[in-house]
Amino acid sequence: MAHCFLQVALDTPLNSCFDYRWPCASGEEPLVGQLVLVPFARREVVGLIVAVKDTSDVPVDKLKDAIAVRSQLAPLPERWIALARFAADYYQRPLGEVALPGLPKNLRVPKTVALDRALKKLAKNDTPHDPTPSGMPVLNPAQQEAANAIGSAAGFTPMLLYGVTGSGKTEVYLQACAQVLGRDPDAQILVLVPEINLTPQLEGNIQARFPGLMLATLHSGLSEGERMLHWLAAHEGKARIVLGTRLAILASLPNLKLIVIDEEHDPSYKQQEGLRYSARDLAVWRAHQLGIPIVLGSATPSLETWHHAGSHRYRKLELRERAVRDAVLPTVKLIDTERDRVKDGLSSAVIAALRQRLDRGEQSLLFLNRRGYAPVISCDACGWISNCTRCTAFMVLHKPEHRLRCHHCSLELRIPRHCPTCGNVDLQPLGRGTQRVEEGLAAMFPEARILRIDADSTRLKGSAQAAFDAVHRGEVDILVGTQMVAKGHDFKKLTLVGILNPDTALFSQDYRASERLFAQLMQVAGRAGRAGAASEVLVQTRYASHPLYGAVQRHDYDRFAGSLLEERRQAGLPPFMYQALLRAEAPELANAIAFLEAARDCLPTEAVMINDPIPMTMTRVHNTDRAQLLVESPSRPALQHFLREWVEILRAMKSRVRWSLEVDPIDI
Ligand SMILES: [Zn+2]
Ligand SMILES: [Zn+2]
Repeated sequence: MAHCFLQVALDTPLNSCFDYRWPCASGEEPLVGQLVLVPFARREVVGLIVAVKDTSDVPVDKLKDAIAVRSQLAPLPERWIALARFAADYYQRPLGEVALPGLPKNLRVPKTVALDRALKKLAKNDTPHDPTPSGMPVLNPAQQEAANAIGSAAGFTPMLLYGVTGSGKTEVYLQACAQVLGRDPDAQILVLVPEINLTPQLEGNIQARFPGLMLATLHSGLSEGERMLHWLAAHEGKARIVLGTRLAILASLPNLKLIVIDEEHDPSYKQQEGLRYSARDLAVWRAHQLGIPIVLGSATPSLETWHHAGSHRYRKLELRERAVRDAVLPTVKLIDTERDRVKDGLSSAVIAALRQRLDRGEQSLLFLNRRGYAPVISCDACGWISNCTRCTAFMVLHKPEHRLRCHHCSLELRIPRHCPTCGNVDLQPLGRGTQRVEEGLAAMFPEARILRIDADSTRLKGSAQAAFDAVHRGEVDILVGTQMVAKGHDFKKLTLVGILNPDTALFSQDYRASERLFAQLMQVAGRAGRAGAASEVLVQTRYASHPLYGAVQRHDYDRFAGSLLEERRQAGLPPFMYQALLRAEAPELANAIAFLEAARDCLPTEAVMINDPIPMTMTRVHNTDRAQLLVESPSRPALQHFLREWVEILRAMKSRVRWSLEVDPIDI
């Protein structure tokens, strides 16, 4: 019997493409981009057909037959496969490991019940596809100019929408969407936000503005059923606007005409495990591939993007004013805690400002990027401290939950009643997390409605949204939170932001720490005074003369970014250098280092710089020691060329040390 041959990508490590036979006489002709059920290692798994061929390099009798093609699902477009191929190649991972996990889980199971059900449900949906926008507000001239520039851009046009916090970037995106959809009613637009908690607010805005259009959301908070339905709506071209977090960059969008990346500087766009991709960078590649415009929005652009805009590779669109009339940027004051000593974590200036807001019925936000009650507990008598037994880290005191928790390996213990080494019963919390600040506030302002928002207070599904809703409804006087509250939210009654203890990041070894701290402070400061009322930001610091705080005080991103870029240029760091980081993990540090040393020496080259292996700053996590080795080159192609060869050799070593490679790492 005559056969044709399918090359199928499977989600397996190492070699991820395999040939299968398909009977030609079956009457069904498989297509590239279709999903197919195949036997693999005594199981049946779903793979992606990446080629259909007349011959195979493998002898016919060694091949197995494919079982069934998912013909009810339209094939994934060739350009989508090209995107997956690019990501696989660039990040040095097998194709199947990129392409298949990007699909909803229910598509990858042997049974098709869920798929058939979702397809039926989608077929019944009769959203009219009317792109007419409703209730468009009048934009200020700068917003209008930016919206027109985006809406009328043709071909691959990367744009930076650089707008101060509260400058109304969202309205610019929405108007640009309206223009694109007005021209081409079948157009699809992809809008990415850095964090899942920001989707409901924007989803509401988009739905109100485009009541006749189908909107799909894609993020990790959806149930499998929802995810399948939304993914299919995008894949079939029915959803005109697709809103999502970083994983949405791998959505299938046959008619994609515009990509919007909001808060493009945000580190959440970088996936930190498995395929360590940057959704922002893939988005730029995708826009280039499709020849469409892409807009990257931020008040504090990443230095990479800022550098591109400065060298005119990206077009810069600017919003220098806040959108709401008379709303001005908050006044930033630096509170020197050497002079104004803190009580319960708060300086007298912050306490007085909180009192004033309470009297006026306005909202305040206290930002502290440290969750838990106290970062460590200690015994004064013998010097014992609550170290994690499995990590180079402290066990954090969580008082409401009566637990000590390690934030790195999630080890949990009851709070000891007495010191484990000397028996002293008087164990003291050291330092201050959000829980302790909340406790102090409650004692200081018993009449105030205080709400804490952090990863602990929002563990239950829906609880983060409920908390943010309460703030929006004005049911909260003082909000205490971590970085979760710093991003993107538009709190109308908020007129005071207190930033507690930001200093630790000033002395980090990571060269990106100051860029990140600056962005974080500007973002959290930007939550204040968005609706027009005069507002202030108080920064409690022991280093009030540090230039970073001076730049925050002047809202001077331009100059700060300029000086950081100059530093990076002189030091030979990104964006003037391209990097990859090889990490190794082993029960003993020596083994990890030995592996990295072998890796360092296995492929002699002049084209890239290979540094010596070093233990990671937090060396031990979950009883595993970790070390890393940095590879650098001023040429991206040279680095890519080296990595391709290098990874082959590393795989062939078959070392028992676990290793991973990260291209363009953001945490070093
Ligand atoms: Zn003790
Ligand atoms: Zn731990």
